[in-house]
Amino acid sequence: MILIDGKKVSAEIRNRLTKETAELKSKTGCAPGLATVLVGEDPASAAYVRIKNKVCAEVGFQSFEQNLPAETTEAQLIDLINELNRNDAVNGILVQLPLPNHIDPQKILLSLDPGKDVDGFHPINVGKLVLGDALLTPCTPTGIITLLDYYDIKIAGKHAVVLGRSNIVGRPMANLLLQRHATVTTCHSQTVGLEQITRQADILIAAVGRPHLLTSSMVKKGAAVIDVGITRVDGKLTGDVDFVSVSEKAGFITPVPGGVGPMTVAQLMANTLQAFKARNNFAGEVGSQIFRREEEDEAKVV
Ligand code: NAP
Repeated sequence: MILIDGKKVSAEIRNRLTKETAELKSKTGCAPGLATVLVGEDPASAAYVRIKNKVCAEVGFQSFEQNLPAETTEAQLIDLINELNRNDAVNGILVQLPLPNHIDPQKILLSLDPGKDVDGFHPINVGKLVLGDALLTPCTPTGIITLLDYYDIKIAGKHAVVLGRSNIVGRPMANLLLQRHATVTTCHSQTVGLEQITRQADILIAAVGRPHLLTSSMVKKGAAVIDVGITRVDGKLTGDVDFVSVSEKAGFITPVPGGVGPMTVAQLMANTLQAFKARNNFAGEVGSQIFRREEEDEAKVV
């Protein structure tokens, strides 16, 4: 069994981004800019935003931190987003969710410039992902593709089973795997015979939020098992996968914490650089292509 080390891969991506940003800065005099928008004082959201701004500064991006009071109106938030949309120094805009109840997240999402939507949640970017033509794709599933590539886990022609169909993880995950020529099955709370389906998976991705839902009997020997779930149980971060039993059967497995989690922030930075390059017509792939090997394209299924 090979333990997939998200911390190591994330650090490697951040190093690459730091180097590329320094090169771009010396050539053009400008660096990518990321704006984070936090409304209210929810401690967990504030902590996430702090980490994002810290990594943003580490890789050499300009950071535009917008911390607004909980009573901010929907109209005021949309005004701020319009201002960030117009600001040429801002390449990515991240609105931290959840928003206070009086603000409709869908309206906020629609007010974003899709070219600055580094979370990849705007309907235009979601549509492009479904069409197989997206530049900005959601960070967590894109980070998972990067992990699979880093560990040279073949995707084309494999049966990938995704547990969960949320707009943030499950659905975009299934689309990204399909784009890489996997045969994809998506499971959810209404799926009948879950164990029979998961046992067929070469790549098994659990994004449910139910601690230890996935047990050894549900896993095929040698499968790559990716655990997205994070639930706090007795103060401890716990994944969807029963790590102890499943690790005896899996070929590859991610731990919680230290697996998928660190990839999400690294991917947010990669998306911001991608948005900067697209805006300035610089070549080069970041997105989910960073560790992709050429020969994967050639893997044809007959
Ligand atoms: P979500 O919106 O609550 O979606 C959960 C999905 O799991 C739903 O599609 C649900 O089905 C499905 N589900 C529920 N019970 C199931 C069961 N018994 N069998 C199969 N499927 C079942 O959650 P999410 O936002 O996708 O997040 C999932 C987990 O990933 C959470 O623990 C979250 O904290 C974690 N997460 C981690 C990261 C990271 O960076 N590591 C990022 C995002 C999320 P229905 O659609 O039928 O309800």
